[in-house]
Amino acid sequence: MEINLAKTAGFCFGVKRAIKIALETAKKDTPIEMLGDIVHNENVIKQLSKKGIQKVSELSTGKEKTLIIRAHGAERKTFEQAKKLGYSIVDATCPMVTEIHNIVKEMENSGHKIIIIGDKNHAEVKGIAGQLSEKPFIISNRDSIPYQEVEKIKKAVIVIQSTQMIENAEEIHEALKPLIDELKFFNTLCKTTKSKQAEIKMLPLENDVIIIIGSRTSANTNRLYQISKSLNEKTYQVMSEKEIDPSWFKGAQKVGVSTGASTPDEAIESVLEYLKKLK
Ligand code: SF4
Repeated sequence: MEINLAKTAGFCFGVKRAIKIALETAKKDTPIEMLGDIVHNENVIKQLSKKGIQKVSELSTGKEKTLIIRAHGAERKTFEQAKKLGYSIVDATCPMVTEIHNIVKEMENSGHKIIIIGDKNHAEVKGIAGQLSEKPFIISNRDSIPYQEVEKIKKAVIVIQSTQMIENAEEIHEALKPLIDELKFFNTLCKTTKSKQAEIKMLPLENDVIIIIGSRTSANTNRLYQISKSLNEKTYQVMSEKEIDPSWFKGAQKVGVSTGASTPDEAIESVLEYLKKLK
């Protein structure tokens, strides 16, 4: 069976950077905490916890502790609260997420209402919203547009959660255009997302079976799976080779493999080894 690994497989720049920062910080002699998952991958979190980085769901007393801010960033109030509690903060926010923070802050200061296209429960979206003085609109799809409220806006700016699907964002943008007099659109999908999404539109058409490796808690992995599944019914998402069922490959000559932005190399290598041994 021919195995075709996506060129964009593996960690994205922001995840690599966050893990590097976390590992460097782990050398410190103080207790280290991360609020939530620093990246969305269970195996990475386990590895970091072995290095002494403890995942916490809320901040406690921070005296002599270090807090690592995850790749998706955090709300302004999290930084303020951590400082008050005495934490020393190491910020591993991806620079591309920081860029979105800067856009929304600047645009709010110049009198624009902020519209975020994304999932309101996702840490990155909460982090973007948490930079603002006023509550932004968070829209996940065309059906969830709050038309009556949106029509009252004179000046607005759209930004996109970095891992959203561009088609969804464009659809929402088109629907909002006639409703808002002055509407600016910033395509804030990150470079990795753009390349991964472009590649996953071809891979399923060129292969009989597609394997997407990555955590089900990772929004970008789930989106790759959705795109691939819509193009090739024989698309499967797995965390590791242990979840692969050999019957998926019956009669297949080519298998394409792609991964989320937070999938470690070891997981990719184990899946590739497993596939090579399949008869
Ligand atoms: S997916 Fe994009 S925005 Fe998110 S961490 Fe990776 S490079 Fe940064």
